[in-house]
Order: sequence, then C-alpha cells, then structure tokens
Amino acid sequence: MNGATTSGELRAHNRVRLLRAVHDCGATSTRSRLTRDLGLARGTASVLVAGLADDELLHEEPAPEHARGRPTQVPGPHPRGPLALAADVREDAWELAACELGGRVTVLDVRPHDGTPQGALAPLGEAVAAHTSRLGHRVVGVGVALAGPVRFGGLVDIAHLGWRSVNVPALLGLSRSPGDAPREGAGEVTVGNDTAFAALAEARRGRLRGVRVGLHLHVDFDLGGVLVVEGRPLGGASGTGAEFGHMPLDGGDRPCMCGAIGCWGMDVGANALLRHVGMEHGGGRGREQAERVLATSEEAVAAGAAALGRGIAALVNAHDPEVVTLSGHGVELAERAGGTLLRACEPRLMAIRRDPPPRIEGSALGWRGALLGAMESVFDAFLTPEGLERWRENHPDQGRDTPERRNVTHSTPQGDKPL
Ligand SMILES: [Zn+2]
Repeated sequence: MNGATTSGELRAHNRVRLLRAVHDCGATSTRSRLTRDLGLARGTASVLVAGLADDELLHEEPAPEHARGRPTQVPGPHPRGPLALAADVREDAWELAACELGGRVTVLDVRPHDGTPQGALAPLGEAVAAHTSRLGHRVVGVGVALAGPVRFGGLVDIAHLGWRSVNVPALLGLSRSPGDAPREGAGEVTVGNDTAFAALAEARRGRLRGVRVGLHLHVDFDLGGVLVVEGRPLGGASGTGAEFGHMPLDGGDRPCMCGAIGCWGMDVGANALLRHVGMEHGGGRGREQAERVLATSEEAVAAGAAALGRGIAALVNAHDPEVVTLSGHGVELAERAGGTLLRACEPRLMAIRRDPPPRIEGSALGWRGALLGAMESVFDAFLTPEGLERWRENHPDQGRDTPERRNVTHSTPQGDKPL
C-alpha cells in the first residue's frame, strides 16, 4: 500500500486515490463504480466520501439517470472546493481560467499582449493576484503554459519574441525566492511548455489516454512536439524536452530564431502559412490573417500539411509511437489536407513502420490542451497526502463564501472557446 502502514496513513492514501479517481474520470463515475474500481469496501467508501465532503473537497449529486435499482450518487467537485488557476500564454494573448477537480474550466480572463515579457506577464500576474484574493484558500496552485522551452522550473526562451531566460514567476510577481514570504493561499507556481502541457492533458483526458508510447504535436505560430511514454511527456534533463520543432526534419535551410538552421517548425504553423502567401510573419503577430490563409489558400495548407507529414515520418521511424496526436492548427491541417499529409508521411516510413502505420488523430481537447495540462500540473501537486493535509490546515471553519460567478462562463474540458 505504497508504504502506508498505520490506519491514518492508509486513510490518507485512500482519500488521495478517491479524489484522483474522481478528477481523472471528469467527475462522471458513480460512487459504486469508483468503489469497485478502487477495490474499496462499501462502508469504507461511505466513510471516505463523508470525510471528504466535510472537508469541502467533494460533493455528491444524484446520477442523472439510473435505469433500475436505488438512486446512485456521483461524487464531484465541492462548490467551495479546491481550484487550480491555469494560464495559457501564447505569443499574442493569454487566457486565465479556474479549474475544479474533475477538470471543469471557468474562463476568468482573456487578453491580448504586446509580445514583451513585461507586457505579457505583468497584467497576467495582476489578474492572478486579484482572483487569488477573491477566491482565497480555494486556490491551491497556479499553472502557467508558455510557448517556449522552460528551464529550471521558470526560465523561458521564446525565440520568435526575443525572450531569453525570462524569469516567469518573478515577472508574474509570484516568485518564491529565499526570504520571500509565501503568498497566502496562492500555493505553488508551476511553469511549463505549452506542448508538454498539451501532451499531458491528452494523456490524462484525451486521445493518448491508456497509450503506452505516443507522439504529441502542437501547432500554433510554429510547432512543438514531445514523446509521451506511459502517460508522461519526456521532459529531458533540464525540462526542455518538447522541442521536435527545432529538428531539421524537412530539409530546409532557413535560419531559425532559435539559433539553428532548417528547423521543422519553420515550415509548419501560422508563420509558415503567412510566409507562403508572402505576408509579414513572426513576432507573434498575424493570427487572424493566418486563420484566413488556413481557410482559403489550398496551396499554403497543402505545403504545411506535407511538411507536417514528412516530419511525422521521421519521428515515427525513430520512436515507434502507437498514436500521433495533433493539437492547435495541426487539427485543421489534418482536416483540410489529410490526404496530402499521409502522402508525404507514408512513403518516408520504414517498411516495418507501415505495417500498420500509427494512427494520426486530432486532439480531443481542441485548443484547450495547454491550459488543461497546466491545471493537471497543479492538481498533481495537490492530490497527495501532504497537499490534502495543507488544505485542512488552511481551511477556515467560518466565513466561507462562494465566489461571484455571474460574470464568468462555464465550459467543459472539451468545450468550445467560451469567450
Ligand atoms: Zn529552431
């Protein structure tokens, strides 16, 4: 039992298992199903659920329908329960959301930015601080996704924007340097790469769920990619593993802002679409124009899809994934020019890789992957015996309040862009 030897340790261990199961199933399984899946006695499950409800960690609702037998309950997030704040910082805008156990996302704020570290991160830090003070002890951590490699847990380089070793927690005003007083209630800050977070979300609640070896590619202004093994994106020694976009997989020779030449990401994504039709590109500008090119220029779309297919073949030959999943504009490239993508990919596969070739699938999570992965990183830290103990210690018995919800929009993890 994971070293749980005393009855108190066993109970703490089972509280974590039950909450983890509720979170991972999207708060859709009935209590009886969870009890069976976790191998718990019915009485034990009742006591655990009651204790978690007392701690405002879980709340049960009747199942929407039951064909026969007694009504059954579905454990889900408590209305005053823990929240992960998650942010997806793209090259031109950021989105901030509050996420409940089970993965329901409430978008709090979406704002464009000017592409500078200060211009992007200072207003986001202010928004995080404002929502943290409003939501109080409910906020158990903050996860931030960024469109570049992240070293040492917070130093970010975004080549297109000229960001070099930008200290993200410091610019957000959330750093925890030695001597700093911990920010009340804000919990830990986790900074990660958008592709790695999108891949993590895909492994937890998307098309890489249950897949042993998968390859995830996230296409925005350029392209990132990472191998996912047993549900975990391979992070590399310093945490900067999700950089398949900077491999010379497509035979090009243009210099990339990362310092290398011929990077695959030069040929796939919004920048490549804009370049193909002779429009200005780079610096995180031109999203709307690129979307117009994606919708109207078959030639630009075919060029992007073919480049995507050639690179996928190289990575499949190297890594032997079971499934290749695509998020961001990768989904549209595959939908609009799937035949071109496959015709570029399959002849470049080794014969042993063609029998059968791996499936290439669009993400089940739309553009939400990076945000959801940031959420998962926060709940991974929270759903531990120590995290739950901290929750109890920080939990005031009086003055509990439900946050103001009139001005926010709810959506499911699979939902459309809500704003
Ligand atoms: Zn590069």
